[in-house]
Amino acid sequence: MTASEYTLSLRIPLAFLLLAACSGPLDSSECLHARTAAMSADAGRGSHAVGDAGGRADVYGGDAASRPPVGSEGEPFTIAVMADAQYADVATHGRRQYRDSLAKLTESVADCNERDLAFVVQLGDAIDRDAGSFAPVQEVFDDLRAPLYHVLGNHDYEVDDAVKAQVPELLGMPAPYHAVTRPGWRFLILDGNDVSTYAHPAGSDALRRSLAYRAEQAPDAPEWNGAIGAEQLAWLEDQLDEAEEAGERVVLFCHFPLRPANTHVLWNADEVLAVLDRHPNVVAWINGHNHRGGYVERNGVHHLTMHGMVDTDDNAYAFLRFTEQTLEVDGVGREENRCLVLP
Ligand SMILES: [Zn+2]
Repeated sequence: MTASEYTLSLRIPLAFLLLAACSGPLDSSECLHARTAAMSADAGRGSHAVGDAGGRADVYGGDAASRPPVGSEGEPFTIAVMADAQYADVATHGRRQYRDSLAKLTESVADCNERDLAFVVQLGDAIDRDAGSFAPVQEVFDDLRAPLYHVLGNHDYEVDDAVKAQVPELLGMPAPYHAVTRPGWRFLILDGNDVSTYAHPAGSDALRRSLAYRAEQAPDAPEWNGAIGAEQLAWLEDQLDEAEEAGERVVLFCHFPLRPANTHVLWNADEVLAVLDRHPNVVAWINGHNHRGGYVERNGVHHLTMHGMVDTDDNAYAFLRFTEQTLEVDGVGREENRCLVLP
């Protein structure tokens, strides 16, 4: 964590104190009002640091003239996100209640079906282990009315070597990474297991390349994380360029966080952040993996970590409502409500 990120992490709780009164679905004007009041109070304390030094500065400084148009003819829309269900038919271990995840997923799907959602994103680690765990999870998701997009997590590869290449297919994914668009918006599903020690079978070229990468680039990084490889990174840069030309705002989904900097981040988090820094149309990076959840803002990009659904008796998922000015997080269970102002 850099000094400015640390400063930010101290500032955010103050902002959210003003949101404590919010309950149930957030109202956009209420949300903006609370945030503006929080930021004014903060500015009064003489602090303007938002995110790392350099790059884009103030999220509130978003130049209205250069702001990309909001999606779908300016109509707000809502999606749902959930992370780390880690379903397995095995006994509870510590906070992880593996079997209970099916009931939690079923509850979240029923809740999603009560609402008008653009789509739902499952942020990875749908299963904890064994390829046989995918079918019961998929059966629950079969009842979902909204389109569903999966993100690949490290636990999704806790399967036999012979099955590893089929994991995206087992989840019904069109590809390990891909783009979803709607007017004014581009959503990118990323694969952070691309370069990793666990996603490729023994003896494969991909594993050999991954091990060489780790030895050279990330020798001390935990083996339960991975990296976004060169090819995917080039694709990401192209997508961000295209989105910029099309006047689209971009939201990225990955199983792994980039920030705050800790043992959960992608091996090449700094390299990915450098790509994001070149594209002011990126507004959010949304991930799972770190079950504790959390939030940090860096250079105008909202980095949102969702809580792990598998933990505890309580469920955890959220509805994200995108308006022209805000991203409103309507948390369920352990997931907090948040109101984030878009650049
Ligand atoms: Zn994970």
